[in-house]
Amino acid sequence: MDGDCCLTMLNPAVVSIHNCVLVCRNHLTGNLGRTDVASVTPWLAPIVWEGTFDSTLIDSIYKQQNITIATTVFALGKYTRFLKDFLESAEEHYFVGFRVHYHLFTDQAEEVPNVKLGQERYLTVKKVPSMNRWQDISMSRMEILEKLIENELASEADYIFCLDVDTKFYGRWGVESLGRLVGVIHPWFFNVPRFIFTYERRPESQAYIPAGEGDYYFTGAAFGGSLEDVHHLTKTCREQMNIDIANSIEAIWHEESHLNKYFLYNKPSKLLSPEYLWRDISMSSGQVKIIRLSHVAKNNAEVRPNL
Ligand code: UDP
Ligand code: MN
Repeated sequence: MDGDCCLTMLNPAVVSIHNCVLVCRNHLTGNLGRTDVASVTPWLAPIVWEGTFDSTLIDSIYKQQNITIATTVFALGKYTRFLKDFLESAEEHYFVGFRVHYHLFTDQAEEVPNVKLGQERYLTVKKVPSMNRWQDISMSRMEILEKLIENELASEADYIFCLDVDTKFYGRWGVESLGRLVGVIHPWFFNVPRFIFTYERRPESQAYIPAGEGDYYFTGAAFGGSLEDVHHLTKTCREQMNIDIANSIEAIWHEESHLNKYFLYNKPSKLLSPEYLWRDISMSSGQVKIIRLSHVAKNNAEVRPNL
């Protein structure tokens, strides 16, 4: 509070309003906002880019809420090799200062590295059966997440993020990413016209999106939100994939295609820019000023159980 401020003489409610005004004024004088990218969708959901939020202010708001962020990650077969970098870099950059509970699904618990976790950071390892097709591993995540939320998370977490393991954090991923339903814009498709999006185009699949429809192309490698919304998302995608299996069709990009269909009819309340999942090859973009999480380069033929 300013030393010469007469409002300090008044009652606490007024002082609190005054504090708020000071915070807001400071906030506005920070010149937040970007003119080179869209930072809001046509349905008025924020699109989070560096320069659109005040990390200190937003941290202080969420600090009052005592939240837990459940984070799921799958590492089956040779993908356990990605765990060390994923977890170590997450401890450095991901929701630092907030309670995080990693739920790690693997078919080889003995391969999980011993990573030192910070205070109020927890890791639970869960065994899942091995699978022969990477597509099945990737798609099976929806049902496992659905059941995890139903059976375990209700009493322990407020938000959930589901992340690919073949990734590494390089910059802050914090509470600015939290929302009811959160999608991440795919790093290859944020600056291309809609007809380029690789949606499922066969009407026989439940993931079908006709030409001329769709807002953004979202990655399947990172999504999240409230437990209730992510439960509905995972349940719906699991049901739609089961219908596809019964009809002997597999969507072009597997659960990512179903996720995109879901987001078309259930609009995310917040979008994260490709800063929140960058490409696996080093390639700069003027609009991406900070890389927070990035796919790491991998030799698919070598790490996957099938082609
Ligand atoms: N995955 C796994 N073992 C595999 C294949 C996939 O654990 O053999 C999991 C892992 O979490 C991975 C995710 O499924 O991050 C998605 O697969 P992948 O990363 O290969 O898909 P891409 O990002 O290359 O499309
Ligand atoms: Mn991946």
